[in-house]
Amino acid sequence: MVIEISVRDVKVYYRSIKALDGVSISVNGGEVLSILGPNGAGKSTLLKVINGVLRPVMGVVYIDNKNLLKIPRRELARRIGIVPQRVHLATLLSVYDFVMTGRRSYINLFPTKIDEEKVYEALKVVGALELANRSLDELSGGELQRVVIARALAGEPEVLLLDEPTNNLDLKYQIEVLNLIRSLRSRGLTIIVALHDLTQAFRISDKVLLLKGGRVYAVGRPEEVLKPEVIFEVYGVPTIVIREHKIIAPLFQ
Ligand code: ADP
Repeated sequence: MVIEISVRDVKVYYRSIKALDGVSISVNGGEVLSILGPNGAGKSTLLKVINGVLRPVMGVVYIDNKNLLKIPRRELARRIGIVPQRVHLATLLSVYDFVMTGRRSYINLFPTKIDEEKVYEALKVVGALELANRSLDELSGGELQRVVIARALAGEPEVLLLDEPTNNLDLKYQIEVLNLIRSLRSRGLTIIVALHDLTQAFRISDKVLLLKGGRVYAVGRPEEVLKPEVIFEVYGVPTIVIREHKIIAPLFQ
């Protein structure tokens, strides 16, 4: 079930702003791709194009050689799981009910036994089974992030898109979420994740894409791309890179 994603010469404009200006990238099935770049570089926009919510003015996204725009919505919703940057919690749902919303593309009228099993399975994968009956508003940031990932997994996706999943988490929870991403990769999911933290990207990625001003500045294996001179050109910040420990630290006074 490992599937490949290929983005070909994609352009997205918001009026006069060129959010993506001819971006091409491919991800092999079962790999982790990190999308990096300063604020406004186009990371979220690229994720929205890959999950089909944003139609580019030019270019095509292929999922296993099939044009994404030709895949029926319901099928796409099943194949791609999404972990958005912010979750809008309109009502105070239980964790179980919230994760069940990840089965939406399977449910006709009422959830079946299978839907129920998939919800518990997803909660188990993220280590949150014991939270099933809790209310969402009672969760810590780290617990909530795991539950949001469980919702995406409940839809049995082949591809998982995550938009800055470690934001607002303390160190322990950041590591938990990063380890979870690596364990999902071992299960064969193709994972695309927008990140701010370069060390995190170095640790978890098979491939990194560095965006600057809506264009691909560099792409390749982390150790090829994440070099001080490249980072300085994109972020304008001097860094020290400790390759043997995969650590990238900014230098400042
Ligand atoms: P990133 O995720 O890397 O911070 P985004 O993809 O959010 O970057 O944004 C890329 C560019 O597009 C930025 O200049 C941003 O201001 C602009 N942009 C993003 N969303 C919209 C929108 N809905 N309307 C107008 N401009 C937008």
